[in-house]
Order: sequence, then structure tokens, then C-alpha cells
Amino acid sequence: MHKNANITIDGPRLNEDIAFTSRFGATPRGGIRRLALSAEDRLVRDWLATHGEALGCSITVDTMGSQFLRLEGSDPTLPPLMMGSHLDTQPTGGRYDGIYGVLGGLAVLRAFRAAGYVPRHSIELANWTNEEGARFAPAMTASGVFSGVFTLEQAYGLADRDGVRLGDALLAIGYKGDEPCGAHPLAAYFELHIEQGPVLENEGKTIGVVTGVQGMRWFDVTLTGQEAHAGTTPMELRRDALLAAARLMVLAADVAAAHGPDAKTTIGIIDASPGSRNVVPGEVRMTLDLRHPDDAVIDQMEADFRTQAAEIARRAHIELSIEESWGSPSVPFDLACIGMVRDAAAKAGLSHRDIISGAGHDAAYMARICPTAMIFIPCRDGLSHNEAEYAEPEDIVAGANVLMRAIMAADEHFDPA
Ligand SMILES: [Zn+2]
Repeated sequence: MHKNANITIDGPRLNEDIAFTSRFGATPRGGIRRLALSAEDRLVRDWLATHGEALGCSITVDTMGSQFLRLEGSDPTLPPLMMGSHLDTQPTGGRYDGIYGVLGGLAVLRAFRAAGYVPRHSIELANWTNEEGARFAPAMTASGVFSGVFTLEQAYGLADRDGVRLGDALLAIGYKGDEPCGAHPLAAYFELHIEQGPVLENEGKTIGVVTGVQGMRWFDVTLTGQEAHAGTTPMELRRDALLAAARLMVLAADVAAAHGPDAKTTIGIIDASPGSRNVVPGEVRMTLDLRHPDDAVIDQMEADFRTQAAEIARRAHIELSIEESWGSPSVPFDLACIGMVRDAAAKAGLSHRDIISGAGHDAAYMARICPTAMIFIPCRDGLSHNEAEYAEPEDIVAGANVLMRAIMAADEHFDPA
């Protein structure tokens, strides 16, 4: 038997940590309200630092307030392997979103320590500041600065609803650190998280091998026809913008169907004018949201929608405008890291499937600067950003063990001796 085969996560301890830290910002309904850089956030950060020190970790805080717990490896010349996620929550958040990834990483450090296992690479655990974006928008702020997507000045200038700037909030809780944010080479990054969707639970799978984060593109669609009398205007002479909009809604669903199970199209807002029961609607404004793991497919979905929508508009004598308002490219994760997660799940005898993340994560930014992958576990009813968020204790332990084995595989794979 391999000498490291017996290293394992202390499952009861991990589940206790999740339960214990839920008191920092506990809500009456069993959730957590722990906004970034609040008094509750300071308490949970202090708790994490105390437990990291007890394991013999060195702890640094960067200029964005992110905490890094570091267990020294045997070769100090190698860049570290990093695990991470976030301890901030939504205003009525659950006990698992982000928290699981940080405390699961702590459980990995603890398992290595308990077994006397010293990897070649140093192993770091990151607690990223303001992942949720609930207090300071946009989300994933600290990992965004770390990976060069935002500047430190941009991040410091973000203000909450009371006008408090992020830079001042960092000072207020004593977490404006010295280490320049991003001056931190990495061998690889792994993030453990609840799925926040229903796929794993529906299929009875324990582990989601996350292959990337899907891309998304938003459009504002305007249809202009002609207002007319509902009683006197013959059907064939109408230029009904809402009827044409209805055809576009069906078209959007057809476009998704034509591009396979990973394509998603949504029309979430529809606003018809003038909004009178006996007037043929003259104008409709609506939104269109396109998503797919592959940006080339989103291009194709957009082209299909535009071509067929133009034909629908032409036949209905409607003027059509489709303006892109926002977009976020897809993020494919690293094939080698994905393979380490898949192997770890398979070797542990855990049911698993490849999955694309529908939500954003710190890992999406980390993938810009180092090989990255994620591990999902199921959450009940796919519910997240909700006080009722729940994950099974056995799944929590299983996911942390997969993270641990993936880190051990990465230690062998990267920077070969
Ligand atoms: Zn999260």
C-alpha cells in the first residue's frame, strides 16, 4: 500500500467547524448574515487565523484583506498549491456557500498535519475578500485584483449603500494587510464548493468534476410596431409588437434546444406599451440572456437568434433592434487539474460527473493566472443564496477528501523533480 493511502479528512471535525462558525452572523432562520468586512466577518477571520496558527501555518494578509494560511512544503523554491473560497455571505445567506471551500481546505491542512505528510509544494488556503458582492459590487473583488482584472484603487473605491468605501472598511476591521495583492506566484488553484444547482442531486451523484464556468451575454431587445384600435383594426393590418415578441420568446427556446443541453436562453423582462387592454401594443422592450460553456457556441446562438428574429420582424412589419448590454466570457478550467479531481473521485469510489458551473466563483478569475479546477457537491433542492441552504455531512466529507487527493496529485504533477 502507498505510504500516503491512509491520510484522511476528519469528517466530524469539519462538520463541527461548519456548525460552529455559523454563529458568526447567525440568523433566526438558521442562515448567516455575514457581509464582507463587517464585525461578523472579522470574527470568523480571527477564528480562521487562530485555527491556522494552531496547525503551525504561517498567515499573511494582502492589501485586499484576503487571508492566506500556509503550510510549508519540503522544497521552498516551488510556488505553492492553493485551495480557497470565501467566508462572506449574502444578507440572508446559507451555511455552505464559500464557507465549505475554506473550512474544507482547513480540514485538508489538518489532515496533512495529523499524518505528518509534508508535500514538496507549500500548501496555502485562501479566504478571499468580498466574493459575494452583496456589500460592495462587483462580486469576486479580491480574486479579481489578485488576478489583475481590477486595480487596487478601483477596489478600494467601491462604496456600500451607506457610502463606506471598501478600503476604509478593510482598515476598520483591521484587515488591510501588507502583502501586495497578486504578488504571489502559484503552481495551481483548487476550489471546493456546493453546486448551487439541482443537477448532482437529481442524478444521485456525489461529486461534480467542474470543467469550467459558462459564458453569458445579455441583450436589450426592442420591437416597434404601431398602436391601433383593438376593435376596428383588421388582424391582417396590425403591427402588433407584443405578438412578434411572443414569437421571439418561442424562438429563444428553440435556439437553446438547437444547441444542446448546455445552451440556455432566458427572456426575463418584458414590457409592452402602451399597456391598455383595447390597444394593439405598439412597442415592446425585453431582455435576452444567452449562456453556454463555449463562447463560439454563444456566437452561433446569437447569430441564429438575430437571423430568425429579423425574419419574424420582417413578416410582422415590425422594426427590431437587438443591442448587447453586457457579457462575460466562458472560463475553461485546466485539463490536468480537472483530471486530478476526476481521478480522485474515481479512486475514492464516489459517483461523479463532469459539470459546468452556472455561477461565478473566485476560481473563474484564478484560472486567468494559474492552472485551476473546482469540485462540487450536491446541495438540497439546488437551493443557495438562501438561509435553508443544506448539504449532507457525508457529501461534505467526500468533497473534502477529493480536494485533498487532488492536491496530493498536483504536488506530484507540477514542477516534477
Ligand atoms: Zn460562493
